[in-house]
Amino acid sequence: TPIILWFRRDLRLADHPALSAACAAGGPVIPVFILDPETEALGAAAKWRLMHSIKNLSQSIDITGNRLILRRGDAAAVLDRLIAETGAGAVHWTRLYDPAARARDQAIKSALKARGISARSFPGHVLFEPWAIETGAGGFYRVFTPYWKSVRDRPVDPLIPAPTRLPAPARWPASDWLDDWALGAAMGRGAAVLERYCEVGEATALARLDSFLDGPVADYQLARDYPARAGTSGLSEALTLGEIAPRRIWHAAQRVRQGGAGAGAETFLKELAWRDFAHHLMFHTPHILTRNWRQDWDGFPWNEDRHDPRVIAWTQGRTGVPFVDAAMRELYVTGRMHNRARMIVASFLTKHLLSHWRIGMDWFADCLTDWDPASNAMGWQWCAGSGPDAAPYFRIFNPETQAKTWDPKGDYVRNWIAEGQRNPPQSALDYFDAMPKSWQMTPGDPYPAPLVGLAEGRKMALAAYEGHRSAR
Ligand code: FAD
Repeated sequence: TPIILWFRRDLRLADHPALSAACAAGGPVIPVFILDPETEALGAAAKWRLMHSIKNLSQSIDITGNRLILRRGDAAAVLDRLIAETGAGAVHWTRLYDPAARARDQAIKSALKARGISARSFPGHVLFEPWAIETGAGGFYRVFTPYWKSVRDRPVDPLIPAPTRLPAPARWPASDWLDDWALGAAMGRGAAVLERYCEVGEATALARLDSFLDGPVADYQLARDYPARAGTSGLSEALTLGEIAPRRIWHAAQRVRQGGAGAGAETFLKELAWRDFAHHLMFHTPHILTRNWRQDWDGFPWNEDRHDPRVIAWTQGRTGVPFVDAAMRELYVTGRMHNRARMIVASFLTKHLLSHWRIGMDWFADCLTDWDPASNAMGWQWCAGSGPDAAPYFRIFNPETQAKTWDPKGDYVRNWIAEGQRNPPQSALDYFDAMPKSWQMTPGDPYPAPLVGLAEGRKMALAAYEGHRSAR
């Protein structure tokens, strides 16, 4: 009997336990992607990026002699219909760990089992199942360093080659057309620009991993903090959509760690473990997605007005603070932002502008092509001070000092801010092509004055913090 392979954030063929188990059963495999309400609710850039990933996976599946079936609707109902149409006896998928996906998957599993259909979920999205890593006392980890110590030398599941052939069903079930889903529609003018900055698919991700480990990883420890350098792997969007498996990256980097580029590879492995840690936290404390992780932060006087002109200026990259604006424009143009820049813009929004971290988190969710619920929420709460293992609130990034240290020649700022340059680079001009016309900005505008003095913003943030602390 056929097995339905329900693809979600695992859009690859290699290192795919759910797929390899389906192949091992020997019968036909029916690969399906479902545009369910949760997927429809993704941010504009994430949805656009997903469309490209689905297209790429679909082409890879064609080569194996099979077809990716596309269906839209409530996942449980879609699966029911497919089972009825194909006589499938089992559904396989790769586990996700956010509360909404877990609730949906558990309900589907029980309903299918009650009808005698086998429903099997598999690992693969993270290195370690969140419940498998426990402290000595038997709980979950709240702090990264001991978590890292506990996973650093743990065995990671072995690699699995991609199947060369996926046995097809006798009759193809009907499929939607990807173009009809219009997953890129919300990107508007930005889509054409984003296209230039984006690399898609499993083969590309594997090649990117190879080239990163062949060279840049040796300097990763130092270079990773300089936003104008290509010092990092750039694999985050492939990871979040599952175009590459974290285990593939882990094993390859371990080989490099043992082979010579030790310190760089070690730091890189540690960053990969941060991604797992974010999922570990989301699994054990799902409120990290929506509420202050640390309850003693409830009542902090953050401004929750999303329409505050200063918040709007932050989203549009016109705060008048060059490093912050460069970063916000990089985000809008490329769908990504350098990690150091993410920390600085998040600190600026939540501290200098005293705006709620949720506002920033939601803007990132709309603009990031590498959006990941766990890493985004952890990153924002870490920067805001309300999160696990967070930076202490009084450590307020000064964007000017940060720029002097990490962008000493101003390359990053020049890459992204056209105003004031006689011959701005294409990247800086791309911003004006990508933005909605209603923003009414042109490269010839004068560069805006700062929204807030850095010293003054810092003073206000510290006063708010002290006030909150003494009121508790
Ligand atoms: P590399 O430096 O090459 O690292 C390799 C991989 O390790 C990354 O691809 C990523 O999967 C993981 N990783 C690295 N740093 C972190 C980190 N701090 N937390 C979790 N995982 C990490 N990352 C996302 O993937 N999606 C998000 O939505 C996201 N939102 C963020 C929001 C804020 C406010 C902050 C401070 C960080 C956020 N990050 C997010 C983490 C990090 O900035 C990106 O993963 C990283 O910049 C991606 O670039 P890279 O692939 O070149 O990373």
